[in-house]
Amino acid sequence: MQAEILCVGTELLMGQILNTNAQFIARKLSALGIDLKYQQVVGDNEERLEAAYRLALSRSDIVITSGGLGPTVDDITKRVLARVAGRKMVVFPEAEEMVRRRFAEYHRNMTPNNRNQAMFAEGTRILVNHHGTAPGAIVPLDNGCEVIHLPGPPSELEPMFEESVMPYLEKRSEHVIVSRYIRIFGMGESEVDMRMKDLEAGSNPTLSPYCSLGEVMLRATASAGTHEKAEEILTPLVKEVRRRIGHVIYEISGTDHGGLGETAVTELKARGWTVAVSEDATGGLLASALAEIPESEQIFRGGMVFPCGAGICRDTAEERARGIREQMRTDLGISVVGTAVEAGDVPAGTVYLGISTINGTRVKQVCLSGGRDRIRKLAVKHALSMILEELG
Ligand code: AMP
Ligand code: MG
Repeated sequence: MQAEILCVGTELLMGQILNTNAQFIARKLSALGIDLKYQQVVGDNEERLEAAYRLALSRSDIVITSGGLGPTVDDITKRVLARVAGRKMVVFPEAEEMVRRRFAEYHRNMTPNNRNQAMFAEGTRILVNHHGTAPGAIVPLDNGCEVIHLPGPPSELEPMFEESVMPYLEKRSEHVIVSRYIRIFGMGESEVDMRMKDLEAGSNPTLSPYCSLGEVMLRATASAGTHEKAEEILTPLVKEVRRRIGHVIYEISGTDHGGLGETAVTELKARGWTVAVSEDATGGLLASALAEIPESEQIFRGGMVFPCGAGICRDTAEERARGIREQMRTDLGISVVGTAVEAGDVPAGTVYLGISTINGTRVKQVCLSGGRDRIRKLAVKHALSMILEELG
C-alpha cells in the first residue's frame, strides 16, 4: 500500500505558512509502516489540482489531502476530486448536521455557502471534525484507490487524523505493525547513526532515528501477518541495537510517548522513592520537567531555585544535593550548579550535577555547548539522566 500527500493552498506555495500538515501526516504514516512515496503541494487552482489528483491516483493507493474544505470559492479540494472521479457532489445530511451543530456552538450564523461544507462526492464516508466546522472524508474510488480529505488548520487536522484516520489505516493495512521506541541519551546523533547504518538499511524490520535536543530515539518497526510474527521479526533487531549501544539506552517501549522526564518519574515511582531538587543554572526548569509529568506529585516533593551562576563549584553541588534531600526529607536530592552564560572566568555551559541518597553523595561535571536556552535544557536532561543512573 502506497500513500501520497497532496496539500492544497496557494499560501503554502507562496511561503506564507509552513507545511506542518505534511510533516505531521508523513510521521504518522511512517509510524504505521505505510509507504509514503510522494508529496505534492498545489495552489487553489482547479486545473492544476486536477492534474495533481490524476498524477497521484496513477501511482498511489491512498491520497491524503489537506486544506480547501472550507465554504469559499477557493475551497475546491472536494469538488475537483468529484470531477476527476466522475462522481456527483451531494449534500450529506449527517455532515450538514455536524456543520449546523458547530455553528450553534460558536454562536455564529450559518450562511448559505456553509452548506458546501456538507457536500461531498457520492459514496463518501464522513469524518467528524471536533475542532472546527469542516468535516473530513474518506472517498473510496472505483479503481480501489482512496482519497482522504482533511481540513487545513493543524488544530483540526491533527485530532481528526489521530481519532479517525489512524484506526482506519491500521485496519486497512494488510499487516500488523509493531514498533519499539528505543530512547538514547549520552550519544550524539551522528555516532548513533554511524553504529546503526547497516541496520537502518533494512526494509522489514526498519530502524529509523529521530533526534531531539541531546536525545536520539530509534524506532524499530516490523510488519507481518500476525502480531507474533511481527514480534519475531522485531526482537533480533532490538537485541542487536541493545548489544551495540545498550549502555546509552535508557528506555525501550512500545509507544512513542515518553522521554527522560517520564522515565525518571516512572522509575522513581517503581522504587517508591521521593525526590527534591536544588537548581541555579536551570532556573526551575528541572522542577518543571518533573512536575509536568502526570502523577509526579507522588514522588516530587519540591525544591529550591537560586540565581544562575551563584557559587559555581563542585562543593556547592554536593552540599546542595545533600542539603535539599535532608531538608525536604526525600530519598533522593539532586542539584544543578552552573552557568548558562559566561560568568567571570567560568565559561558558559560549566555545570556540576550533584546527587545524594542515603548511600552517599556524588558530583559530576558536564561541559555543555550552545546558547543559553540550549544549555539550560541540556542541563535538565543530564540531571534526569543522572537520576536514572542512580536508580540503576
Ligand atoms: P484551508 O482549509 O485551505 O482554507 O486552510 C485553512 C488554514 O489552515 C490556512 O489558512 C492555514 O493557516 C492552515 N493550513 C492549511 N494548509 C496547511 C498545511 N499544509 N500546513 C499547515 N497549516 C495549514
Ligand atoms: Mg485554502
